[in-house]
Amino acid sequence: MDFAQFSDFAAARGCRQVQDDAFGIYRGYPFTVHYKKGGQGQLTAAFKFGSKTPKSLLKEMRAALKPYGASPMSYAPDRVGFLLAGKEGAEENFDNALSALAELFTAAGLTPPTVCPFCKGNGCDTLAFVGGGYVPVHRACLDRALASNATAARRSMQQGNYFTGILGALAGGLVGALPSLLTIWFASRVFALLFALIPICAYQGYKLCRGRLNRVATVVTILSSILQVFVLEQLLFYISVVDYYGIWPSIFSSMILYFRLYTLGDMIASMATQLVFVALGIWISWRMITQTGGTALQSVQYINATVAPYAAPGTTPAPAQAPAPQAPAGAAPPEVPLSEEDPCEWKG
Ligand SMILES: [Zn+2]
Repeated sequence: MDFAQFSDFAAARGCRQVQDDAFGIYRGYPFTVHYKKGGQGQLTAAFKFGSKTPKSLLKEMRAALKPYGASPMSYAPDRVGFLLAGKEGAEENFDNALSALAELFTAAGLTPPTVCPFCKGNGCDTLAFVGGGYVPVHRACLDRALASNATAARRSMQQGNYFTGILGALAGGLVGALPSLLTIWFASRVFALLFALIPICAYQGYKLCRGRLNRVATVVTILSSILQVFVLEQLLFYISVVDYYGIWPSIFSSMILYFRLYTLGDMIASMATQLVFVALGIWISWRMITQTGGTALQSVQYINATVAPYAAPGTTPAPAQAPAPQAPAGAAPPEVPLSEEDPCEWKG
């Protein structure tokens, strides 16, 4: 299944497609399907329920999915799904797998969540991808949350301060480097994973000190992280001076001593491992440290694109709403533009 075929697949099932994902509802069960490129393509479907799934469910799912070449997935106590290779006949296998699971879920008494994740109230009227699952929400609650996210994202891009952000990134990076300092000094060991704390803390420091959240945030985070390797090196040298000579020199005289004792080659050799580990840490935390106001706005748009009208099973759908009054000419567009299409209900 290539990407064009995935789009056709999603459209044929009345799903809302957003990039590599599609969102639909089948026999009252809202689901997400993710398309993974590569090879013949791969589909992963997921369902979120209002309660934890019984322990036996995964085993039953395995048996039910086997005839269709699909395997069960467990994402969280209240979230399961399945994985299906996108080879020949994937569409039919997907439909059969979905049908088998819907029966299994119904038999197990599993239902989609009934309360809105924002206000915990009943009577949800909309489906949206919120908190990692395609779930019922109140349209009003969702719009409010997304509008406030969008406003905060725009503000963080326009009103942040680079100077305080840089100070925050330096302080944050230093805090993130402390666990590595302690393990190197006391255990004489370098833990690669601990180095991931350096960029994470630098980024959080930048954010906490209200640095402007655009690409500069990522650049400052990376520079601060690399600088921490040098800071670590100096602190370790300082501690060894204290340890060896039993004196407490100023950090500056310790640094002068460092530069007198070592050649550039020595310094690089000494810091090489840490530099590699910081690079690894930056790679591990890349998704976090590249989050900007722009990416926050993108995620608001993404969630908006998943929105579909919803009526809880057993309730009558609300009567069609009267068309919204036209906004007067020249009025500002709404904060969060939303489409008003037919429900993407699909009964197999
Ligand atoms: Zn609500």
